[in-house]
Amino acid sequence: MLDSTVVNQTQEVLDSLNDALAQGDIERAAALFATDSYWRDLVAVSWNLKTVEGPAGVADLLSHQLAHTRPGNFTIQPGEVPAEEGGVVTAWITFETAVGRGWGLMRLRDGKIWTLLTALQELKGFEEPRGTRRPMGAEHGARKDRSSWKERREAEQAELGITTQPYALIVGGGQGGIALGARLRQMGVPAIVLDKHDRPGDQWRSRYKSLCLHDPIWYDHLPYIKFPDNWPVFTPKDKVGDWLEMYTKVMEINYWSRSEVTRASFDEASGTWTVEVNRDGTRVTLHPTQLVLATGMSGKPNMPRFPGMERFKGTIQHSSQHKGPDEWAGKKAVVIGSNNSAHDICAALWEGGADVTMVQRSSTHIVRSDSLMEIGLGALYSEQALANGITTEKADMIFASLPYKIMHEFQIPLYDKMRERDAEFYAGLEKAGFDLDWGDDGSGLFLKYLRRGSGYYIDVGASQLIIDGEVKLAKGGIDHFEEDAVVSCCRFRGQRVKLT
Ligand SMILES: Cc1cc2nc3c(=O)[nH]c(=O)nc-3n(C[C@H](O)[C@H](O)[C@H](O)COP(=O)(O)OP(=O)(O)OC[C@H]3O[C@@H](n4cnc5c(N)ncnc54)[C@H](O)[C@@H]3O)c2cc1C
Repeated sequence: MLDSTVVNQTQEVLDSLNDALAQGDIERAAALFATDSYWRDLVAVSWNLKTVEGPAGVADLLSHQLAHTRPGNFTIQPGEVPAEEGGVVTAWITFETAVGRGWGLMRLRDGKIWTLLTALQELKGFEEPRGTRRPMGAEHGARKDRSSWKERREAEQAELGITTQPYALIVGGGQGGIALGARLRQMGVPAIVLDKHDRPGDQWRSRYKSLCLHDPIWYDHLPYIKFPDNWPVFTPKDKVGDWLEMYTKVMEINYWSRSEVTRASFDEASGTWTVEVNRDGTRVTLHPTQLVLATGMSGKPNMPRFPGMERFKGTIQHSSQHKGPDEWAGKKAVVIGSNNSAHDICAALWEGGADVTMVQRSSTHIVRSDSLMEIGLGALYSEQALANGITTEKADMIFASLPYKIMHEFQIPLYDKMRERDAEFYAGLEKAGFDLDWGDDGSGLFLKYLRRGSGYYIDVGASQLIIDGEVKLAKGGIDHFEEDAVVSCCRFRGQRVKLT
């Protein structure tokens, strides 16, 4: 199709959608969607994270939301040209609601909407002070008793949470809490981010010594300040910690460290929370209107209990307590588990001169980092993607535009390719006795992460140690501990893996 035909076809669909929405004609708006279509809304129309399916789902969404949120003014995003490939037209779009502006991505198939992503970007009247709206910093002219930027900032820090209440309180100052804190700050929302650690970034600093991010740099940016273009592809964990600490400071986030929330309750009458905080030994009570829990999903150790652990004479550590291999040279170590941390820790122990055995209970999905970067992520998150105009913001939106229900259809072919490319590697692992899987339907890492949050290793070298027998492999669960042994059960019941 000619570019101009694609543009016209796209704008026609958007015009029809605008017209139907403006007329309040829900049936006509819904009829623009294909039978097997998806509308994924991020806060814009539903005020929630919501995906609806097919014309009936669209009609249902609009019957509840159209009158309040009044979406409309859908148009092709300025500077973007819709593209057609394999019968699918993909178009970047913008739109408005009664209170905000947003952008999104639309895919058309046979002239009907197949997928529509709508994401709210800003609220009217509360646009962020960026670009032409940025603050002056200096106040030109002469005025008695003026205060400096630093003095105003110090006064704010001294008052917020003490004599004035934050509108929003964010519990957890990892990257999620910090990024939200930065956005609220730009929007002028009085907010405090608090964390029990000593310094921003400590969550990362406290992890095992060899840890580097498994995701590449193009995937990792925070809002407003991108990592510089000489930053390593896979950021070492202490650098992540330092970046978060620097970011917290220069983004002027009101960050309370050494502060732990111990209790929170909501008062319906006042519409505020009462939150008890232990701030470096002092009890503080806060009354925010909004309470955000950004306490992470991978940060809380899950320590299993096995019979006999108390009799065991060696060291037992959860991976979150394990600092690295330095004290393990010449010793025997059993690592229970076969996912990412287990592999990283096994490899580092082996490098540090320990005698290492990994215990695998159930199958693991393994994907080589190089293959994942090239085949799985390259089109969206890479230098090449950037050169093709796919910024991290666009890549995130493209990823978000795929409803989870059909995401596997896009993922399976990629993982088939990786399986073929690394066939020899997988054969080696199987020969070593390692149990592999590819996720429930062969859809690989992302779906496995979304469905389970675990069950995989992005291989950066430990698999070869298993293939070569340098890291030994034991199979099955743990039955019990003895004074000087871990005893695994199931398929190799009674097999003893001796520790010193
Ligand atoms: C070993 C390991 C490796 C990982 N590698 C990667 C990777 O390569 N790429 C990736 O994207 N993700 C990785 N993750 C997942 C990682 O946890 C998250 O990406 C990231 O830390 C999530 O940030 P977050 O802000 O959601 O939570 P966290 O970083 O976990 O932060 C939550 C914060 O909440 C604080 N907190 C909890 N309860 C309270 C309370 N009651 N009061 C005050 N503070 C509280 C904690 O102190 C913590 O600092 C890894 C996780 C682990 C454990």
